[in-house]
Amino acid sequence: MSSPIAVKTLIVGSGPAGYTAAVYAARAMLEPVLLAGMQPGGQLTITSDVENWPGDSKVEGPALMERMSEHAAAMGAKIEYDVATSLDLSKRPFTAVCDSGAVYHAETVILATGAQARWLGLPSEEKLKGFGVSACATCDGFFFRDKEVAVIGGGNTAVEEALFLTRFAKKVTLIHRRDSLRAEKIMQDRLFKHPNVEVIWDHEAVEILGEPGEQGVTGLKLRQVKTGETRDLAVQGAFVAIGHAPASQLVEGQLETHLGGYVVVKPFSTETSVPGVFAAGDVTDHIYRQAVTSAGMGCMAALEAERFLSAEGE
Ligand code: NAP
Repeated sequence: MSSPIAVKTLIVGSGPAGYTAAVYAARAMLEPVLLAGMQPGGQLTITSDVENWPGDSKVEGPALMERMSEHAAAMGAKIEYDVATSLDLSKRPFTAVCDSGAVYHAETVILATGAQARWLGLPSEEKLKGFGVSACATCDGFFFRDKEVAVIGGGNTAVEEALFLTRFAKKVTLIHRRDSLRAEKIMQDRLFKHPNVEVIWDHEAVEILGEPGEQGVTGLKLRQVKTGETRDLAVQGAFVAIGHAPASQLVEGQLETHLGGYVVVKPFSTETSVPGVFAAGDVTDHIYRQAVTSAGMGCMAALEAERFLSAEGE
């Protein structure tokens, strides 16, 4: 293990919350180090067009994240392409150990680890992951050229994935367990107008059919939620888009969490249950979960870290 690197502010995560925290912390002369994690840039790097980032009527997710990274670096933040494998918040300085062997001793920590896709939890889904089952249309859509695919879910992600897949697939069937979507109206309009999209309402997928290997996914067994009737739908790809779960494993048992792992913060603040540790973005936000709200929370976290350290110095 290498000798510990002392930092005033360690930012864990590189989505809009992490990079915004880095911009603000750097400008506050906290010389922040940002650990970019397993998926530098976070969830927006596996999305297509972003149309609700203020100032950009349309920007590609990966390009937006690249700009945020450059911005943070230009302000003086140190971006490390490393993954925190453990974080000890039991005493200060807090200790982070990274995949590379680097160890950080941090006066303050900003946790911005985001969220990761949720799965249905079916054994057949697990068996066929990588053989036609995916949670990322932008990563895997290309493999479904001229095929028929299904998307499961009814939120913004599901609708975005379905529309994106129409670029490749000859038919996209959206399967939703209720009779209305929770996606933004503008997205719903686009979906309903698309000639290659069909929506199957009030159905859930109870099994994904097929075999791993050459054959892959061949279909879905669907159940009508009101009548209980089942039927098979022939598809070669199944995209699961049923929401996200907070990536709070690093702080499990150390910070107060609720609602299935979201880190609890004080109202109108990013302060967690441990003084000196702040949480921003999807790891704590179970309500809005937008790039712009995450960025706002990243800003709050950096301002609060700076105030926390200044108060100690008084
Ligand atoms: P979400 O809004 O939580 O929607 C999840 C969907 O999956 C819901 O329709 C839900 O059904 C369904 N679902 C959940 N568990 C299920 C299960 N076990 N089986 C079948 N269906 C299930 O999640 P999201 O679409 O990933 O979006 C997450 C957040 O990111 C939201 O705040 C969203 O607005 C935001 N987002 C924004 C954009 C954008 O602005 N362009 C793009 C992507 C995501 P019910 O409706 O019945 O609950």
